Order: sequence, then structure tokens, then C-alpha cells
Amino acid sequence: MRDPAKFLSDEYAQLVAAQADWKLHVLAGPSQPWCTVDGRKVLMFCSNNYLGLSNHPKLKAAAESAVRTHGVGSGSVRSIAGTMDLHLELERRLAAFKQAEASLVYQSGFATNAGLIPQLVGDGDLVVSDELNHGSIIDGVRLSRAERAVYKHADVADLARVLETAEGHAPAYRRILVITDGVFSMDGDVAPLDRIAEVAHRHGAMVYVDDAHGEGVLGPGGRGIVAHFGLGRDRVHVEMGTFSKAFGVVGGHISGSRALVDFAFNKSRTWLLSGSHPPPVAAACLAAVDVLEGEPEHVERLWTLTRRFKKEMGALGFDLGVSTTPITPVMVGENARARRLSDRLLELGVFALPIVYPMVAPGKARIRTIMNAALTDDDVGFAIDAFAKAGRELGLV
Ligand code: PMP
Repeated sequence: MRDPAKFLSDEYAQLVAAQADWKLHVLAGPSQPWCTVDGRKVLMFCSNNYLGLSNHPKLKAAAESAVRTHGVGSGSVRSIAGTMDLHLELERRLAAFKQAEASLVYQSGFATNAGLIPQLVGDGDLVVSDELNHGSIIDGVRLSRAERAVYKHADVADLARVLETAEGHAPAYRRILVITDGVFSMDGDVAPLDRIAEVAHRHGAMVYVDDAHGEGVLGPGGRGIVAHFGLGRDRVHVEMGTFSKAFGVVGGHISGSRALVDFAFNKSRTWLLSGSHPPPVAAACLAAVDVLEGEPEHVERLWTLTRRFKKEMGALGFDLGVSTTPITPVMVGENARARRLSDRLLELGVFALPIVYPMVAPGKARIRTIMNAALTDDDVGFAIDAFAKAGRELGLV
């Protein structure tokens, strides 16, 4: 008889043959500047732990203490018996940090986009998305019954064209939602959110920004892209983010009006039907908000190191793409060459993974570096020296 599960091994074998399978690297110990990766001590240069908070003593102490006071699990989904005082306190503190009326915490950033977007738009609506938006946005849009339109990456004129065309649609769309990443995770460029919000406003559309890579990085004290551009909540209706990057822990969130939060938690299926954060997670996120409010020097340090890295790498002759943030892609071109550069960097003691087609366009393979505020000046010098050596060997510079 035919094995109905044979495709599992067949398709995996195809991935392996095409060198498109994921080879997992294993950290023994915390994510910190010098990590043990696959048994070797290396400089971490590609984590999302922008501010070094994932191993920060205050976050660890908060998590330990919450285990003692609240246990290791919440026991339920938020809507039944899984809302603890810690969750509410986190939402209150996050809203204050974001200078928003209210915030809501989800289990992850992915669960936020997948759960909320299909509630904001449905039958008779239009969602207008940047062509390079993150996969969790794409999946959230797919889960909705709304019509979809894509505008050219960060191209406000093209967005205006799409919205103008939409105005002539018959029957008229019930609602239009414009959605964009704040900082684009593969290129490190910043969405022109001020102009996007302006065009959307002219056309009566809602705006949703995924600021996963902007919070803790952009804006005063790392408050994110909405604060960076000084935009009102009547112009950016949903500011979405994650605790898994600069905040150093895990979990998604939204900030905006009280009406948004009341709507979102009553309707998002990922929020309603999935267990809430364990107490140590909520407590560590709360401590991360505390650290961001009380220790703005981490954000300063991140930018100081970022500016130095870009300047010295540029002077060496590396192509750093269009980044203006701590995500600095080192453009290489072909997949195989990017893999060779990454392998060589690892031999030289720097852990920075290649991003290759199909994650980016063909011929646009790169090493995506991400700066970390916990690195020393010497660490950054070490990384630049390794890039210089490996780059010369491969004929990149
Ligand atoms: N949006 C963007 C832009 C992201 O980069 C990520 C994480 N890769 C997510 C959403 C998902 O966030 P989380 O890790 O919290 O699920």
C-alpha cells in the first residue's frame, strides 16, 4: 500500500539536495556577546537581542522571583483563568512607555499579526501591504477574507496610486488597512511612516505598523517608530511589536487606543484560544520595560556601535545596502559565496549567518549583521577585522 506520509522524507531530501534545509546552530548558555555556538566560543553578531537584555540581571531576577510568587504556568488562556496581575501590570507599563492609551500583550509577534489582522479586515475590505513585509503579516493577511494589494517597497507614490485606484472600486470598500514593517528585517531600512500615514489619512485608511525591529532602537529611549516620527494615534492606529527582540524575552504586543485593545482581545483568535504567558515571561518583560525606561544608555550605546561599524565597514569597501539601523546587511550576491563568507567568519570567531535566496531576491544574498549594545569596543573591532580578512580572501573588498 502507498505510504501517505512518504512526502515528508521526499520533500526533506529535496531541501537537503538543494542546500535549502535549515541547519540549526546550538547555543550552550545564554545569548550574550561571546557565546558558545556548536561547542565553539564565538562573537554573536546576528541575534535580535539588540540591547543585550536577554541575559540582563534585572530580567533574570524578575523571572526567578515570579516563579517563586506565581509558579511556572498561568494555567489557562487569558480570557478564562489565565490573566494574572503580572499581565495587567505589563500592559499598563507598556502603554505608558509607548505613550498610548492602552496596550495588549499576545503570546508572540507572529500570533499578534496572525490573530489581529484578519479581524481588522474581512469581506468587502482592502488590505494594502508593502511588498517586503514580514511573513507573519503575509500570513495574517492570508487569514483574512479581504482583497489584497501590494505597493512597491517603501514607495509612498505607489501606495498613493493603489489607494487612488481603490477609491474608484465598486462597490466601495468598507474599510482599507495599510500595513507596513517599521524597520525592514532583511535590509535594515526604515519605512517612511510619516508619509505613509499622511497618504493613508487622505484616503481614509487605517495604518498598522509592525515595529518588531524598531522598538528599543528608534525614537526617544527606544520607544519605537511612532515616537521616532512623533505621530499621533489618530494617524497610526495599530503599533505592533514583540518582546522577542530588543526587549530580550518573548511575546507580541499592540499599542493604540483603548477601543483598539478592547476590540483586539475580544476578537483575536490567537489571543483567545492560546495559553497566556508563564509568570516568569511576563515578569521578565515587565523588567525589560523598566530597564528601557531607567537605562536609556543601552539604546545610545547601540547607535554608537552601529555608526562605527557602518563607517569602518564602508571604508573597507563593503557594500552595506540601504540600512540606516543596527541591522547591517553585508551584501555578497550569490548564495554560495554568502555561505562561504559566513563559514569563514565562524572560523575566525564571528557568528553571522547568511540570508540567501529565497529569503531575499536572487543575487541579493548577504550576511545580515545585527549590532548589540552589550558588545565592547574591542568586540566590534574584532568583528570588523574578521570581515576584512574574510572579505579579502573572498575577493569582496
Ligand atoms: N514581525 C517582524 C518584522 C519580525 O521580524 C518578527 C520576528 N522574526 C515577527 C514579527 C514575529 O515576532 P515573534 O518572534 O515575537 O513571533
